[in-house]
Amino acid sequence: MQSILQLSATEVLAKLRAKELSATELAKATLARARAVAPLNAYLEITEAKALEQAAAADAAYAAGNAGPLAGLPLGIKDLFCTQGIKTTAASKMLAPFVPAYESTVTQKLWAAGAVNIGKLNMDEFAMGGSGENSAFGPTLNPWASLEKGHARVPGGSSSGSAAAVAAYACFGATGSDTGGSIRQPASFTGTVGIKPTYGRCSRYGMVAFASSLDQAGMFARTTQDAALLLQTIAGHDEKDSTSAPLEVPNWVADLKNINLKGLKIGLPKEYFIEALNPTIKAAVLAATQRFAAEGAEVVEVSLPSTPSAVAAYYIVAPAEAASNLARYDGMRYGLRVAGNGLIETYTNSRSAGFGDEVKRRIMVGNYALSSGYYDAYYTKAMQVRTLIANEFDAVFKQVDVLFCPTAPSLPFKIGAKANDPVSLYLEDAFTIPASMAGLPGLSVPCGTAQEDGVTLPIGLQLIGPRWAEGKLLQLAHAWETMRRPFATPFTNY
Ligand code: GLN
Repeated sequence: MQSILQLSATEVLAKLRAKELSATELAKATLARARAVAPLNAYLEITEAKALEQAAAADAAYAAGNAGPLAGLPLGIKDLFCTQGIKTTAASKMLAPFVPAYESTVTQKLWAAGAVNIGKLNMDEFAMGGSGENSAFGPTLNPWASLEKGHARVPGGSSSGSAAAVAAYACFGATGSDTGGSIRQPASFTGTVGIKPTYGRCSRYGMVAFASSLDQAGMFARTTQDAALLLQTIAGHDEKDSTSAPLEVPNWVADLKNINLKGLKIGLPKEYFIEALNPTIKAAVLAATQRFAAEGAEVVEVSLPSTPSAVAAYYIVAPAEAASNLARYDGMRYGLRVAGNGLIETYTNSRSAGFGDEVKRRIMVGNYALSSGYYDAYYTKAMQVRTLIANEFDAVFKQVDVLFCPTAPSLPFKIGAKANDPVSLYLEDAFTIPASMAGLPGLSVPCGTAQEDGVTLPIGLQLIGPRWAEGKLLQLAHAWETMRRPFATPFTNY
């Protein structure tokens, strides 16, 4: 592997600016790497022609002295962000033939800043999953472990390809979406930085919808500084999404070091340090917290009593919204059509053939929860729990500035280990779902490694903040990286 690919986005952009490297050379090296890591199944499509075209434009902009902040930076795009003229499948057979006629706001902003599209990244179908195994195009593998059958491990999900590609140096950053943990958990599983901003920070326009009141775009990167740079590029109000907030986007990169740890109040929510938590993960998270305490931060235990109900409530709210959002895939307007005898049979055939098992399961659960007679018992109840969760966070953020907790209760598990037990997979989201339900920002940053079966695997520290406190999370994660460096680099194996 060429070492240029191991630089951070910030470092490689400095080289491009200094003209020590051309965007075209960089795009070619990244494309070659993306092809070389094909066994990971991280990329569903490598968009070589687009990448070279954008790289040439970046080189011209550098020559003309009007290059954007990300000019020439190779990125990967989760395959649920619509890309004009480039297939966008949401890793579903239903959308396998879908070529959008328009661009999502998030990707539009990245291209406007000069970034280069290396390709579209694998994911759990319609973002439903936490392991990357629900893709209609095969699972993504975790670059930290052997790829051999029986040894291969999941990279987390649903943004499986984004996490794996960034970790494997097959791009310098990637978009993700997080509904209940799909950025933070795969970041934790791959030793990358993943940030899910506050609900409303980024536009959802042009993102294939899963659960609209929870879906939020965010970024993967290898350093917090890169994550800040990428997030400040995609954030901001968009008149095409009425839920995007009309707020100025701060310059998070400039503010990164602007923090004093003395007197900072860190809360450890006791419901996140339960018995089901892997003890090595627990020790790593507590050690990181102690390090902050040594720098003058005050650490206090806090309680978020509704945490144990969050997964159950989420698995009513999210499927209910999904059932409604996915009603549009009827074989009529776009996507897969399997013609039958008449309209109803065509609907049935198309949806039966187009959706995978997990998507069908959620459509059934969602429609059941919304049906008359059950609506109050399930949906209304789940929404009440959601309010409780949000209120409890609000109360806790009157006492502390930030919460430190594990991102996930377990280490990246083996492919297939939870395939026949959806509930055990759902429980993997226990620590990411609450912040999603409350619309709060969350960030996962690597905080150590653990050994399992002779394999070194990464551990993620999750920071959760009050609404619009992305800047604080980025500052703290950056401070942590500065204390913690050098962090183990995963693989020289591929
Ligand atoms: N794993 C969770 C689920 O399956 C979260 C997915 C997501 O955030 N998109 O719903």
